[in-house]
Amino acid sequence: RQERYRLLREFPPTTRDGVRMALMMNAGLVYDMPHLDESGADGVGLFRTELQFMVSATFPRPGAQQVLYSRVLDAAGDRPVTFRSLDIGGDKVLPYIRATAEENPALGWRAVRLGLDRPALLRTQIRALLRAAGGRELRLMFPMVSEVDEFRRARALVDRELAHLDRYGHTPPAKLHLGVMIEVPSLLFCLEELYREVDFASVGSNDLFQFMLAVDRGNAAVSTRYDVLGPSFLRALRLIVTKAVAAGKPVALCGELGSQPLTAMILAALGYRTISMTPSAVGPVKAMFRELDLGALRAELEAALDPDSGVTSGAEIRALVTAFA
Ligand code: PEP
Ligand code: MG
Repeated sequence: RQERYRLLREFPPTTRDGVRMALMMNAGLVYDMPHLDESGADGVGLFRTELQFMVSATFPRPGAQQVLYSRVLDAAGDRPVTFRSLDIGGDKVLPYIRATAEENPALGWRAVRLGLDRPALLRTQIRALLRAAGGRELRLMFPMVSEVDEFRRARALVDRELAHLDRYGHTPPAKLHLGVMIEVPSLLFCLEELYREVDFASVGSNDLFQFMLAVDRGNAAVSTRYDVLGPSFLRALRLIVTKAVAAGKPVALCGELGSQPLTAMILAALGYRTISMTPSAVGPVKAMFRELDLGALRAELEAALDPDSGVTSGAEIRALVTAFA
């Protein structure tokens, strides 16, 4: 099987009915980058920058941050890399940042909230990214955005850093794309405004599922209680992509849902064309897409998601898609 996936590296993830998918990989350290060639992924759809901070005993210095981002871009060559700004706080505690005890860390002072409250920290990271990407393309997204204004404020920090770069004669990125992760359900109710502002979005289905279903992703007693294929969650994912297409903005998905052929197949049927996954999933997911009649699956799934279909559970949808597969 490994040999089969290796041979597939040179072939595109195009479905039997001619839809070209883009399969990206998730990464977090420079050591992950060789997986890009090994897996045959089209680029890095999620670079979790907090990993460098989590493996370090002290706050990584601006120069060290810049070196890492630069090496990641070098390793990717002409393939796109989407960096995510620091997603720390909550359960991802850094010993060198004063932590306050929180009763609900997942709902607490984390990610972009912390970045906007401690702008020096976020600005340092943004500056390192902008410098590392001088003369080349930079894609940056912000995690745990709950309202459009948070994106605007984060973008204002980027603008300040761009002005700073200019003042000191540094080369700016050749192209800059700023986006958000969609992982807090409130964004589902302001998608039009959001898509007007951002250059792109990426669905963090792990957190979106946790917050939509009110189910702690780290608590084994409840984390497997609900099926990710339940109709309410699939309709939410469909709404996100449908409105993105209407607004003409690219949207990807980078949660664990993309890493299994069966669920990746459903994402494509809902309208997703770019999926980011763990590197070892790229081969199996590509093999699946090359065999898939996407139009036929979409028709079956749309019928199941019709409120009059009688389908109310993820188990029914899973059975239907498994039978199709
Ligand atoms: C997600 O929430 O789906 C995601 C990709 O981010 P993380 O798993 O790092 O929270
Ligand atoms: Mg997340």
